[in-house]
Amino acid sequence: MSNQSIVKELLGLRDRVFNSSILTPSKHLNLSGRASDTTFLIGTRGSAVDLNESTFALVNLDAEVIEGDVDPTTSEILTMHAAVYKNLNSAKCVLHTHSPNATAFALAHKEIPSRYEALLRFGQASPVPVAQWGPRGSKESVEGIEQALVKDENIKGVLLANHGVLVFGSSIPETASIAFAIEEAATAELAASSIGGGVDFPEGALDAVRESIARARR
Ligand SMILES: [Zn+2]
Repeated sequence: MSNQSIVKELLGLRDRVFNSSILTPSKHLNLSGRASDTTFLIGTRGSAVDLNESTFALVNLDAEVIEGDVDPTTSEILTMHAAVYKNLNSAKCVLHTHSPNATAFALAHKEIPSRYEALLRFGQASPVPVAQWGPRGSKESVEGIEQALVKDENIKGVLLANHGVLVFGSSIPETASIAFAIEEAATAELAASSIGGGVDFPEGALDAVRESIARARR
């Protein structure tokens, strides 16, 4: 896919997320897409509302800007995006939000259990873990993200302690769907906690969901 097509898809992702209800009142959102094995394209404005086809920069996996102008707010978060592409070959897109209910778990330093079927559809059968706090993009924060990725190559998101959530997928559209599923799971967990709490899936649920998806596509 050309860089221009990736940027177009990322702008489509921005619009899809803006039109959902997973954002905070500030609409805080940053997003990037893999351009090659060693580079990614990232929106270069602190506010995603200001992004257009000429506001994306090309960055390498050491978080060095190869092409484009990056504003100071974006410069802080390059390492956070680079960490995902570097440690997870399958990641094609990274999305960061402060989605309210996922962020409630991040503030409480509590992982989001995988008890919501939509999570299983994306292969997220383990809890969404919490990465240790550090100022955004700092060594401490990035180390926390990397540790979570190394522990479980199937994870689709990481909660950033006292901050928000980082989501990644094998395509740009899939990444939006995962961001919705994680926020919905967090919302349902909080609601279920007032009526006795969520209950785990039975053994083999992930395989059963995968078989069901495959059957429908045959
Ligand atoms: Zn943030």
